[in-house]
Amino acid sequence: MTMTNENVDPHEIDKFASLASQWWDQDGEFKTLHQINPLRVEFIEQHTNGLFELKTLDVGCGGGILSESLAKRGAKVTALDMGEAQIEVAKLHALESQLDIDYQLSSAEQFAQAHAGQYDVITCMEMLEHVPDPSSVIEALNTLLKPGGHLFLSTVNRTPKSYALMILAAEKLLRMVPNGTHQYAKFLKPSELLGWCDHLGLQTQHLTGIRVIPFIDSYQFCADVSVNYMAHLTKPDY
Ligand code: SAH
Repeated sequence: MTMTNENVDPHEIDKFASLASQWWDQDGEFKTLHQINPLRVEFIEQHTNGLFELKTLDVGCGGGILSESLAKRGAKVTALDMGEAQIEVAKLHALESQLDIDYQLSSAEQFAQAHAGQYDVITCMEMLEHVPDPSSVIEALNTLLKPGGHLFLSTVNRTPKSYALMILAAEKLLRMVPNGTHQYAKFLKPSELLGWCDHLGLQTQHLTGIRVIPFIDSYQFCADVSVNYMAHLTKPDY
């Protein structure tokens, strides 16, 4: 394993690979990702003033749920994942959807070595809580961004409420996501995440919570960031 490969947890990659056939099943294991996807796309479109022709990188893309939505809105999308099965499913589905997306088996750190300063928009959603050292990913994303570029991150806060909702309720009781999907200790407080970003000079523009109410299939933005949240940052263009 090379130095740049070290920030990948093979157990995490395999967990998602074993569910590869489920990525595009709207009622399958990734149902929640499908359901929150329109909110994520709305947030991204709103804060970039539209994605048409923007060079966009989706990191930790899985089967391509977000990557495809970005491409449909005119973004020129490259998408990375460290799981072979994830990339295979994503490529096949893009063919079916007749979308031109450049899927690559790579980590952000590896990719940053050859593509520094190339992207207008970078998204990294629901991945940072599965990585050994999320701050190293943030550093790579900052390297990959063009000056003036936009960064969108989403993850799960580390609070008693997120433990109750994301682990006890969503995994163990309601089975909304597979048991063992999340580890509480890997959840990230906004202060930690935005602190790393700030250290690199990235400027936080927006932070929003996402509220999921399973029984009524309701998904909405909210001020409460104690469970799921999403951030928009920009890289200064000086
Ligand atoms: N971003 C997608 C999928 C989230 S699931 C969405 O929100 O719809 C998390 C994905 O991150 C999995 O496919 C997993 O294989 C990938 N992943 C985990 N660690 C990674 C790493 N270090 N580099 C790249 N991908 C990683």
